Amino acid sequence: MGLLSQGSPLNWEECKKHADHVKKHGIIQFLNIYNKVKDRQKDVLKWGDEVEYMLIEMDENNEKVCLLLIAGDVLDTLQEKGEKTKPNHPTHWSPEYASYMLEGTPGQPYGGTMLEFNMVEDNMGKRRREASSVLNANQTVCTITSFPRLGCPGFTRPDHQPTPVETGVSKSLFFPDEAICRHPRFGTLTRNIRHRRDEKVVINVPIFKDKNTPSPFVETYPEDDGESASAALPDHIYMDAMGFGMGNCCLQMTFQACSIDEARYLYDQLAPFCPILMALSAASPFYRGYVSDIDCRWGVISASVDDRTQEERGLKPLKDNKYRIFKSRYDSIDSYLSSCGEKYNDIHLTIDEEINRQLLAAGIDKLLAQHIAHLFIRDPLSLFEGKINLDDENESDHFENIQSTNWQTLRFKPPPPNSDIGWRVEFRPMEVQLTDFENAAYVVFVVLLTRVILYYKLDFLIPLSKVDENMKVAQKRNAVQEGMFYFRKDIFKGCYPLDDTSSTQNGLEIDGCEEYTLMSIDTIINGKEGVFQGLIPVVNSYLENTEVDVDTKSTILNYQKLIKKRASGELMTMAKWMREFVAEHPQYEQDSVITDKINYDLLRKCDRIAKGEERCPELVGDPVNRFT
Ligand code: GLU
Ligand code: MG
Repeated sequence: MGLLSQGSPLNWEECKKHADHVKKHGIIQFLNIYNKVKDRQKDVLKWGDEVEYMLIEMDENNEKVCLLLIAGDVLDTLQEKGEKTKPNHPTHWSPEYASYMLEGTPGQPYGGTMLEFNMVEDNMGKRRREASSVLNANQTVCTITSFPRLGCPGFTRPDHQPTPVETGVSKSLFFPDEAICRHPRFGTLTRNIRHRRDEKVVINVPIFKDKNTPSPFVETYPEDDGESASAALPDHIYMDAMGFGMGNCCLQMTFQACSIDEARYLYDQLAPFCPILMALSAASPFYRGYVSDIDCRWGVISASVDDRTQEERGLKPLKDNKYRIFKSRYDSIDSYLSSCGEKYNDIHLTIDEEINRQLLAAGIDKLLAQHIAHLFIRDPLSLFEGKINLDDENESDHFENIQSTNWQTLRFKPPPPNSDIGWRVEFRPMEVQLTDFENAAYVVFVVLLTRVILYYKLDFLIPLSKVDENMKVAQKRNAVQEGMFYFRKDIFKGCYPLDDTSSTQNGLEIDGCEEYTLMSIDTIINGKEGVFQGLIPVVNSYLENTEVDVDTKSTILNYQKLIKKRASGELMTMAKWMREFVAEHPQYEQDSVITDKINYDLLRKCDRIAKGEERCPELVGDPVNRFT
């Protein structure tokens, strides 16, 4: 989840005193990096995936499933047995926000050849087996985006009571501080977000109104000092801690581009895909023991780390704060970075004017300068004593401090100082899928998209305000079937910023009609005569023009089938599948409540499917499993 530093963490009051120092030196560190590597060309295409996992324990006697708060020890063991002692170990493990979470990546990045598509699922399988191998028989590691009973009484093992008092970290009525990862970064972020905001975070998710759901749906909280009662909305599932958001899992990818310009182009081109891939990967319909009316985690995490004050949120006139800020730190991107994207930058961008001027004066172009000046409107949230005065030539912690707590749909990543890593783009919207097969399929699909974008010089850009509208639609229940998304009609006739000879014939209108129109995900992915050719057909024509061995090709086609069928509705998303499982469960009383027993049966089934012990054709089709 970002930069890990050691030492003693500073509280918000102290952190605040150093905010200007961190920002000033963060910008100097960025400029130092930029000037050293701005002209670097011909870095090779490399990429990697990140999968987040939850550790769970099945209590057969009580038919109850709990989140296991042992990630710290599991992580130590995995690193000790693997990457720390074995050169070229195929897996790499990192801590994540919760003490029941792990993040796993391949030990080395993948390269640019087609053959590597055949290694992704295999590597994911290795990670899953490796993590399982250090657990007891009744414990398991699973890739679900949100734990259905997160924050319900007794949801952790060992059991811990929440501490809803000012001296607690999150002051949550539901989420105990022990469920936060023991690395000080995470608790500090949690507490400092709450203190900067000057109140607990507020997450209200609309409840799914079933036949017997009380109407209005209103809860009371006996432990509450009044703060929660006034924050909770009727007919919503109310949550009050960072853990309800950052305690969810996702599937991310990072691409290394050949040059800074290619990275900026890819960053822009991937932006319109964020809502589409999010809806297509929807996997989180349940929150705090209730069935919700949304299918994706995005808005929940966004609210869970929203450190803006009331002034910044526009609830009070500005007095102590500098800016009105329109989005949370975890949200969709606010500006395109390539010259072709410039005219689609149509949402208000709050920037730090002084930093912007400083960047322009140092020779940074307008688009990159405003991007960085926008990220730097945020304050540092975690800072460690002894890590305040740094060597700006050789360290980048202050830059990374701000950069890595801007959790946007995409992240534009400069190389670390003194490394041979190139300019990178991180793709962050996807929800994690239940099986390695599905996760590999989504990952390979996105890599192939980047290949066709570069190969055919495609242009998917639409105004960013439309991408934001799509983000809202994407999170709704069953968006993949029912949602309509703005998408560009002609992706071949566009702008290409990487060579001067290409025509730039796009304006916001071509022949009097808009460049984009509303499409279903099925149309976007599979195509529709007369409307859009479809991404899968474009990818297929690329595959026909590229050398691919038979085996890899059949792997890719298997993956494409999943994406195709998820888009057409022939296969369910995880969100829909989980909803149906609950709806059909004998103990479900059509009251939107997920009991311990329902949760247990659901997760036991999930575990069997993920381990390949049970088939689930309605979710994943009938793939030939060649990797386990
Ligand atoms: N778990 C977060 C999510 O679901 C992402 C944390 C990270 O940036 O690694 O989006
Ligand atoms: Mg992560």
